[in-house]
Amino acid sequence: MQMTKRHSTVNTAQNLIVWLNATKGTPGKSRVVALLQAVQQLRAEREPKRRHKLLLEIFDRFAWYQSRLRLGMTIDPRSENWTVHWKMGQSVAEGDALNALLKLHDENLEQKVRQCRCGRWFFARSGKHNFCSRKCQLKATRSTAAWKKKNREHQRAYRKRNF
Ligand SMILES: [Zn+2]
Repeated sequence: MQMTKRHSTVNTAQNLIVWLNATKGTPGKSRVVALLQAVQQLRAEREPKRRHKLLLEIFDRFAWYQSRLRLGMTIDPRSENWTVHWKMGQSVAEGDALNALLKLHDENLEQKVRQCRCGRWFFARSGKHNFCSRKCQLKATRSTAAWKKKNREHQRAYRKRNF
């Protein structure tokens, strides 16, 4: 079955998100997250000096990988279909995560890979989608409402004291 390009990109994003959520506190994850954040920041940054700095950071992060990456090729002997993939030293998963990040960047979709306040990674359906679940969204709305109420009470008390 032939997958559409869009469908396959969404799968790529889902695989990356599964990996980000499953991997805890490894240097490989820190490297991929730092690279993802630099790529996302560059997409949003307009100030030339900061853009330049981000570009250099991305360059350095890829340079670190350069000597550690191995290109691999898999051939299916029956169909003679072949694919090329990356291997990253001991960690195939980190190479896959990098590959996914590059693929998403090509499609201008890397900014949709986001981290919720609760720590979980998710794929944002829209630009304003900032929570992994309805539960986290409600929690954030409630805490904002509670903060506003507290702030209003505080302001009132302040005015009473001073006027
Ligand atoms: Zn969440």
